[in-house]
Amino acid sequence: MENIKKSELEIKARKWLKERGVELSDIAELVYYLQAQYHEELKMEDCLYNVDRVLTKREVQNAILTGIQLDVLAEKNLLEEPLQTTIQTDEGLYGIDEIIAFSIVNVYGSIGFTNYGFIDKQKPGILKRLNDRTTGECHTFLDDIVGAIAAAASSRLAHASADEEGSLDN
Ligand code: MG
Repeated sequence: MENIKKSELEIKARKWLKERGVELSDIAELVYYLQAQYHEELKMEDCLYNVDRVLTKREVQNAILTGIQLDVLAEKNLLEEPLQTTIQTDEGLYGIDEIIAFSIVNVYGSIGFTNYGFIDKQKPGILKRLNDRTTGECHTFLDDIVGAIAAAASSRLAHASADEEGSLDN
């Protein structure tokens, strides 16, 4: 299972996350934050493994590329108004960043929604940094995407302890 060749899409999605300052270990820490109380002896490597599996999903890769592309264009001032200002200032009523994130939250079932809502309110770890407006960077989409990947990985982890591991990604 581990040596299946990664698609161009997956390679690019992983590369763009890294380029935007998000390591898989940052997302794994969010999974740990969400799940530690429910799993005795939860290990960081289990969190990391589940994050890695989430990134093999095509809908997740598409959400990452679409969201990051819009963040980058906004950062470079290349969008047209009114989108430029809306995305650059992360306007509260916009909401399309969350809609894109929902396509990720969905992939391992509805537990993901609860996890996403919780982590989006708390903003621990990397989410706090992505929401720091003083950096000049724009992460309007990325913060929701990262929270959603953590939420999906958490539901995957929860299902994996209940079900056969192998059946989850089909
Ligand atoms: Mg956002």
